[in-house]
Amino acid sequence: MNKSTISDELFLRAQQSIPGGVNSPVRAFRAVGGHPRFMVSAKGPFMYDEDGNRYIDLINSWGPMILGHAAEIVQEAIMQAIPNSLSFGAPTRKEVEIAELIIDMVPSIEKVRMVNSGTEATMSAIRVARGYTGRDKIIKFEGCYHGHGDSFLIAAGSGAVTLGVPDSPGVTKGVALDTLTAPYNDLEAVKTLVEANKNQVAAIILEPVVGNMGLVIPQQGFLQDLRDLCDREGIVLIFDEVMTGFRLAPGGAQELFGITPDMSTLGKIIGGGMPVGAYGGKKEIMDFVAPAGPVYQAGTLSGNPIAMSAGMAMLTYLRNHPEVYTNLEATTARMVSGMQENMQKLGLNYTINRVGSMFSIFFTQQPVVDFASAQTSDTALFGRYFNSMLQKGVYLAPSQYETLFVSTAITDDLVDQYLQANYEALQEVH
Ligand code: PLP
Repeated sequence: MNKSTISDELFLRAQQSIPGGVNSPVRAFRAVGGHPRFMVSAKGPFMYDEDGNRYIDLINSWGPMILGHAAEIVQEAIMQAIPNSLSFGAPTRKEVEIAELIIDMVPSIEKVRMVNSGTEATMSAIRVARGYTGRDKIIKFEGCYHGHGDSFLIAAGSGAVTLGVPDSPGVTKGVALDTLTAPYNDLEAVKTLVEANKNQVAAIILEPVVGNMGLVIPQQGFLQDLRDLCDREGIVLIFDEVMTGFRLAPGGAQELFGITPDMSTLGKIIGGGMPVGAYGGKKEIMDFVAPAGPVYQAGTLSGNPIAMSAGMAMLTYLRNHPEVYTNLEATTARMVSGMQENMQKLGLNYTINRVGSMFSIFFTQQPVVDFASAQTSDTALFGRYFNSMLQKGVYLAPSQYETLFVSTAITDDLVDQYLQANYEALQEVH
């Protein structure tokens, strides 16, 4: 049993000064019960909290820390950049270099604009798609999360569904009307929407592998069918690779599946842990962005030199070390097959979805292919499982509707520890 006295006190204090006590909703542990742990430091595979507990971290700051916490190559790049100023608000060589590197790595990107978060990236991408096509509507998929821009808080996954507000109050009816939604993996539903809104759909945006309703995998042909539909209908296809970018392959899910969208949005790993996002795509589309074109988008701290240095170090490392991906694949495959063995021993049969170093266990026996099937999960059981794992020193995402992210810092020995904890937790909650 680990203690949480100091975290509990801090959480009480936090609730007096911060809405819900946290700066991003899922961190509050609302869906799983109990109080969040307040972190002090992290190194490699471990995080340490205020009460001195150590956790094996399988969220990794919701994705960015693919090399584990406090990766030296990233930290050194930051240290080197600091003496030259924290921000110029003027162009720098690093911005050119990171743009060139992203273009080199991500198949769909011929030009790219740096922003400060995934939310900014997706908001900007749909504005550009609208400017480029002269159309207003977008199609998104139920349970996909694209940040907290108004247009995306319609049938949204991640924290929005965890807290029971997939359609957030505060989004105007007008905005909501321009967002059409379809079930993931359902091409016919998308075709019907496109037909009913002929020449009005600017963009189809999706997570090419979904991490925000738990991990959901595109079915064979789904991405290609969307590609073909967009080509036929003059719709901009946007892959939101904020989670999958640089994680499933150096060029993200689009490289893994061999499908090239018109635009891509990036975040998380791209900043090496600093607040960075980016959107990019075909030249002819990106040249609509100001000052090359008329679609306005700007940022005081965009292309920040410290953040660019961190991102540059991270991306350069990933490009030069393809073994990162084979190692992550092997580690995560071992974790998942070990969990399957554990379940077999215990007479359980829950669904586990995995692609590369992203995976989720769903407390349902149905295959999970979309939001409706994800919602057949027993979330109360998930909450008990989460807390049992936390007590055993394993830090999981505090919601059924999130994916886990494995880092290269997870050794074979830690996989064994994880699997032991998983066995005991599954036994405990049944
Ligand atoms: N898009 C996807 C697929 C995400 O998973 C997220 C965040 O988790 C976002 C966009 C928003 O990114 P940010 O939280 O950096 O604004």
